Amino acid sequence: MTELPKEIIVLGKVVHIKVVPVINKDETTLGEWVGTENTIYIKQGIPSVGEVFLHELVECIKDKCDLQMNHTIICVLSEVLYQVIKTNDFGGIFSC
Ligand SMILES: [Zn+2]
Repeated sequence: MTELPKEIIVLGKVVHIKVVPVINKDETTLGEWVGTENTIYIKQGIPSVGEVFLHELVECIKDKCDLQMNHTIICVLSEVLYQVIKTNDFGGIFSC
């Protein structure tokens, strides 16, 4: 299983990524963006880590940019982005 980075840079600032056994004392929560901690939480051992991470990243961007997006838009955008990234070869255009 591929490990998530411990932190990423979003809009020039560090965003922490923490993989934890339980999020918010709720076994069913797979991921959560917590703006006050500048942290994306991901539940440990889930198979859908890529989808959940992208979803929380979109939540993070929405929050930081003060975008008006309801949760359906966040879900659709992150799921389609995941599908496009996953199923296409971009030939290294995203590499540093
Ligand atoms: Zn959400």
